[in-house]
Order: sequence, then structure tokens, then C-alpha cells
Amino acid sequence: MRVAVKMLEKIGEFNMEKVIEDFEAMTSDAERIQKETLKKILEQNRSAEYLQLLGLNGRTDLESFKRVVPLVTHTDLDPYIQRIADGDSSPVLTGKPITTISLSSGTTQGRSKFIPFNDELMENTMQIYQTSFAFRNREFPIGNGKALQFIYGSKQFQTKGGLAAGTATTNVYRCSKFKETMKAMQTPCCSPDEVIFGLEFHQSLYCHLLCGLLFSDEVQLVSSTFAHSIVQAFRTFELLWEELCADIRDGSLSSRITVPSIRAAMLKLLEPNPELADSVYRKCSGLSNWYGLIPALFPNAKYIYGVMTGSMELYLNKLRHYAADLPLLSADYGASEGWIAANVNPKVPTEMTTYVVLPNIGYFEFIPVRDGIDFKPVGLTEVKIGEEYEVVVTNFAGLYRYRLGDVVKVMGFHNSTPELKFLCRSNLLLTINIDKNTEKDLQISVEEAAKLLAAEKLEVVDFSSHVDLSTNPGHYVIFWELSGEASQEVLNECCNCLDKSFVDAGYRSSRKVNGIGPLELRILRKGTFQKVLNHYLAQGSAVNQFKTPRCVGVNNSKVLQILCGNVVRSFTSTAYDI
Ligand code: AMP
Repeated sequence: MRVAVKMLEKIGEFNMEKVIEDFEAMTSDAERIQKETLKKILEQNRSAEYLQLLGLNGRTDLESFKRVVPLVTHTDLDPYIQRIADGDSSPVLTGKPITTISLSSGTTQGRSKFIPFNDELMENTMQIYQTSFAFRNREFPIGNGKALQFIYGSKQFQTKGGLAAGTATTNVYRCSKFKETMKAMQTPCCSPDEVIFGLEFHQSLYCHLLCGLLFSDEVQLVSSTFAHSIVQAFRTFELLWEELCADIRDGSLSSRITVPSIRAAMLKLLEPNPELADSVYRKCSGLSNWYGLIPALFPNAKYIYGVMTGSMELYLNKLRHYAADLPLLSADYGASEGWIAANVNPKVPTEMTTYVVLPNIGYFEFIPVRDGIDFKPVGLTEVKIGEEYEVVVTNFAGLYRYRLGDVVKVMGFHNSTPELKFLCRSNLLLTINIDKNTEKDLQISVEEAAKLLAAEKLEVVDFSSHVDLSTNPGHYVIFWELSGEASQEVLNECCNCLDKSFVDAGYRSSRKVNGIGPLELRILRKGTFQKVLNHYLAQGSAVNQFKTPRCVGVNNSKVLQILCGNVVRSFTSTAYDI
């Protein structure tokens, strides 16, 4: 934490060498720093009712902590967090009262969770940003310029007790330290605040694109929180580019922009610029199927940046297509609950990205996950290379031994600190009887089947799944939205391939004896996943943190209704027919 504070003081004269030096020192001494960090967290929050009730009695040593404090999930802490949100300003979870609440994306549970947010989490955010930037900039230096950032503030509201509540990313963007840090990292956002906080996603997206074009020569990088938003932005560009050109040419603003604050801010930036409009027009007309669109529009961009691992891997093919040779660098690993690790090896190929834990931003434990059995958690420096673990977080904002629900694999060590590969969410997705398929298994199966589409120059735009128990026996349903029309024959093959690619022994044996029915592939109308996104936005979710739900249960009835109501064709697997 001391390092983070020191770095914050240095904003404005960002010293990359020093950041790297501090990081190397910290990661070389991870065990000691972890103990110190835990001690500091427990000292600061000594008076917290939660710790008192557990009987920690002010002890700050690791042994007492592990003995007394149980592993918990969000459900266990929810009543405490709810009290805070309702206005209880006594030390419930933290010594200092919590004044801000973050809303997690909530796409996994079908609803947003409340998470405590405080200054320390903000400092952690800046520390992570600066750390990965220092390493990134060493390999891919950027000049002074701007960042085309597809970021969107979500609505902030007051909880019953008067606390400000918004998505974690919104809480970060609203903080003045965020802007200062971005400026110190030479990358202020192209778009004015009114666009970022416009609260009307489609209008903000249009204006982000327009701002990017207006500053096209200055753009040093293109980014978003998750890669999904970048792909979505350029898919939108494909549809609206002529309208954008017209705005640039005439110095006018499309009538689709109706929010007065966005209009006013954008009109200040616009003046007739036929030369720029011609140049954009020429570039777009010269591209073949939009290949290389990003470097064509932004010739000085050095890389594309955003979370690209885990559930974002689906979008990499499309992003590569838009990026041509421009490097794709994955952003750091964190959650609304707090940051965990930074990408300090930006030259590693995107799919292989690992994240090095920052030992001073929280106390981390890892539950080995082998054969679906939960083992006892181990400490940060006790993990083993090649093993898979569920991440457990203790942070400065009132989460103690909190199961984050993510599974990671230890790929190596950076000094004495593990390098993690993000694998998937830990909860099982698809299960009917003895079968167990995770988000990762589903992704692998979809990737395998999608290869059959490549021959037809088609791709899976997005996907989801559902366990259909209304049939007897129950079966898996996979929903696909495709970029174009595929033949009956190919889709039949894809359906069989999906079914065959679930290699889990439980699934295979159940399929063979018809304990699980044939997998069904349902093809969706174009734009269906946009409808799913719109549904979440209408509920107050932020685009920044949006992750397509990879499995939709019956309790998520609205989304299931959107998916089922937009099926245009469906296929039943014959892969296990005798
Ligand atoms: P949120 O609930 O919106 O805060 O999203 C946090 C979740 O996003 C994490 O728990 C992960 O499941 C996922 N996530 C965050 N960063 C990464 C990353 N670098 N790679 C893969 N998944 C990530």
C-alpha cells in the first residue's frame, strides 16, 4: 500500500523505471509482504463488527486469521453489506465507514451484487494501471497523444442509506485520480466526459467513434475494459461509417444524438472538415471485408488494449481481423471485489497471457481444485506450477476470505510471486446428472465446432447455452448467433461436433446410454445478443463490465425468453446415434 500511495504522489511525473523497480522488489519478497498486508488490513479493521463477532479479538497473525475467519461467498456477506447500504455507519465490515458501493456486472447470477468500494481500492486500481503500463510501455512505447477508449459510465444512484452506488468502473472513472493517472500515462481519453457519462450507450458509442476519427492521427491506442466492447464498437462502425463521415464533412452531428449534454460537448469539437471525411471514406472503401480497419483509421496506434482472456477469447478472431498486425494486449486481472494481478509480460501471445499477483493489494489464498473436490486453501507463495485454484481474496474494503468464484492456473513465478492464467468461473455451467462441464469446456467445444464454419468464411458472433430439462431425458442447448447464413449441412456437422467435443467422461457415458438427450444447436436471428445486452443495460448494468452469460438458467427467464424467441433454425445432434 505504501508503494501505491507513493506512486499516487508521483502522478504527473510518472516514473516508469521506479514503478518497475518497486514491483520487482515487492514480487521478490512476496511472502513477507503478504503477511504485512494481512496485518495492515486486520489492524485497520480491528473494530469491525464482523471480525469481532468471529472472535478475532484484534489479533493480526496469519494463524489466528485462518483459524477464526471462515471462507465465505457473497451470500454470506450480503446481510452485512446490505446494512451498510441501508445507512448503518458503525464499523460493520471495516474500521472506517464505507461510503461507496460497487455493483458487480451481475451477469453471472442474473442480478447485480453490492460490493464495498473505498479509497484503498481506488489506489489499488491506479497501482495496477501504472504497473502494467510501465511494463507495456517498455515493450510498446507510445508517444504523447490520446487513447480511443470505449468506456461508459453507468448511472450512479443512492442506496437507501444515501451511499453512492455504481459499477466499479464508473466509480473509478468518476474519480479525479483516474484522469490524472491517464494523463500522466500520456493517454487522456479522446472523448469528453459527457460522452463517457452520457448514459445512453448507443449515442455514447457513436460519439466515441466520432471523437476517435476527429483525433485519428493522435490516437496512440484503442482500448476498453473488456475486448467485447471494442469488437462491438467496430461492428457498429461497419454499419454507421458513412454517417460518421457525413458529420465530419459538414461539421454537423447526426440526429441520432439526442442527449443535450452529449450534443453540446460534441458540437464544440466539430467543424467542417471535408479533407478528413474524404480520407476516412477512402480508407474504408479501400479495405477488403474491413480487414485492418483499426490501423487504417488510426495510423499511429501502437496496440489494442482490454481484457482478452477468459470469456473474451471468443472475440479475439474478430479483433485480430480488425487489428491486422497491430498487437493485442490483454489488460489486467481484477473484479469489482478488487484487483488481483497485472499483465507484466505484454509480448506473450494474447491467448497465453498470464497475470502476476501484486502482493501488497490484498491477502490472497488459493483453493486447489482437482477432480471437482475442494481442498484446503494455500498461501500465495505456496501454490504449485501447473495446478488449478479458486481465488480467495481478503482486501482493504471489508472482504475477508472471500471466494471470488474464478479458477486460475499457475503457469510460473515472477520472482517469488505466481503468474496466473485465467481459466474460467468456478461454478459448473452445464450439468444434468453425472456430467460436469465448465465455462471453459463449453468454450472449447464452441471453438472446435466454429472451425467448421471457417470454410464458409463465417464466424460465431456470440454464444450461450441452456440445460433443457423439459425434455426427457434433459439435454444441452447451445445458442449461436452467426455472422451470415450457413448451409444446413455445415450446421448439422457443427451440432454433432459440439456434442462430441464435450469430452467429460460423465457426459459421454450419459450420452451413450441416453441418460442425456442429443445436444441441440439453435441458431439465433442477427442482433439477438444486442437485445440481451440492451436488457442488461435497461437493468442498470454497465457496458464496460458486460460479459455475455454463457449459460442461462430458467430463473433468468427474461434472457431465456429473448434467446428462445429469436431462434430461426435448430439442429439436433446425431453424434451418438448408433
Ligand atoms: P465484475 O464482476 O464485472 O467485476 O467482473 C469481474 C470478473 O471478470 C472476474 O471475476 C473474472 O471472472 C473476469 N475477469 C476480470 N479480469 C479478467 C481477465 N484479465 N481475464 C479473464 N477474465 C477476467
